[in-house]
Amino acid sequence: MTRLVLRGARHPGDVAMQDGRIVAVGEVPEEPGDEVRRVDGDIVTAGLVNTHHHLYQWMTRGRAVGCDLFGWLTTLYPVWAKLDVADVHAAARVGLAELLLSGCTTAADHHYLVPHGDDSVFDATAEAALEVGTRLHLARGSMDLGASDGGLPPDHVVEDLDAILASTERVTDRWHDGSRIVVTVAPCSPFSVSPELLRESAAFARSRGLRLHTHLAETREEEADCLARFGKRPLAVLDELGWVAGDVWFAHGVHFDDAEIARLAEVGAGVAHCPSSNARLAAGFCRTPQLLAAGVPVGLGVDGVASNEQGTLVTEMRQALFSARQGAERPDALMPADALHLATAGGAACLGRDDIGTLSPGARADVVVWPADDLTDVPDPVDALVLGPDRRVRHVYVDGQPVVEDGQVLGMDLHAARVDLGRRARRLWS
Ligand code: ZN
Repeated sequence: MTRLVLRGARHPGDVAMQDGRIVAVGEVPEEPGDEVRRVDGDIVTAGLVNTHHHLYQWMTRGRAVGCDLFGWLTTLYPVWAKLDVADVHAAARVGLAELLLSGCTTAADHHYLVPHGDDSVFDATAEAALEVGTRLHLARGSMDLGASDGGLPPDHVVEDLDAILASTERVTDRWHDGSRIVVTVAPCSPFSVSPELLRESAAFARSRGLRLHTHLAETREEEADCLARFGKRPLAVLDELGWVAGDVWFAHGVHFDDAEIARLAEVGAGVAHCPSSNARLAAGFCRTPQLLAAGVPVGLGVDGVASNEQGTLVTEMRQALFSARQGAERPDALMPADALHLATAGGAACLGRDDIGTLSPGARADVVVWPADDLTDVPDPVDALVLGPDRRVRHVYVDGQPVVEDGQVLGMDLHAARVDLGRRARRLWS
């Protein structure tokens, strides 16, 4: 196939792609037959990796704005319970397109709400990813503790253990290809699932070579709930169930103490850091500098738009830097290059991938071109991208194929999709 050369970027120079892979970076001499695209003055990065999202939550933006996590959940569960499969598909299309325009080429969607047991919501999300052109880590979420069992969600959005396991197997058989769509087994959180579900989920995932994901150590309230129910802190509860291991990454990880951070590092379990969501819900400061110093894989997550209010990933780099510095009260707690690392290679490590998240020969050609003509006075291009004004991409490639050209998601009327989604969201509240 023809080699495509992006030529003249301010950072990191030229980037050449062929047969879905990056083949050269820096100064790339011209070869006969090259297709050349000038990107003079732009900044080029690897596609960003979003390690934790809930695409369906787009439909409940701007609600429960003064609540903490438990208050927010109890306000929104009855509304989310009205979602149908077409809503989930519509939210996933818009959400993935917005992520793509913010540089995200790989997203992990943690969907744990299955109204009336209809698990075609997972098919709808996978189909949306194929339509939009992003890579998707399809986290088959689940809950089996409804209100009548002392859980927070209404009974009709939770499932029983056998149904969850059978569906997870079906979704894996249908969608898991290990590259464009990667299935992950993802019970929701220690306070919404039973220990049996956690144990059986881990056994299934390991029998199929899938990774595991769940929310953990997000709030002090969750910690108190675990102590009351199990007499142990959240990480210890999961450790006992075989869930603290190198094939697991946890969403949030705000309240890990030093010994828990050492335990995560010992086994290589990762953390999806969601700084805007943590700030919005007043969850606390994730101890990102300590996690990184210990060698824990850390990536960034948007989390759902209902707790972030934006569905963009590039902005999480700056928020991660601000949160780390505020939490540690140190100006060097997280540098812009560290923030870019979290959004790329760090996220890829959480997802267990070494084929994405870097601009290096041999990596998959997931490549983002950022317009940077307003940043020419900022000496360092990475500082400019992380700290500068919010921006949208100019071009995006996934597996070397264009998916965004001149700021437009190809093959999609995003305006019409947004209008349709707004109509669907208003219905939920009527
Ligand atoms: Zn979440």
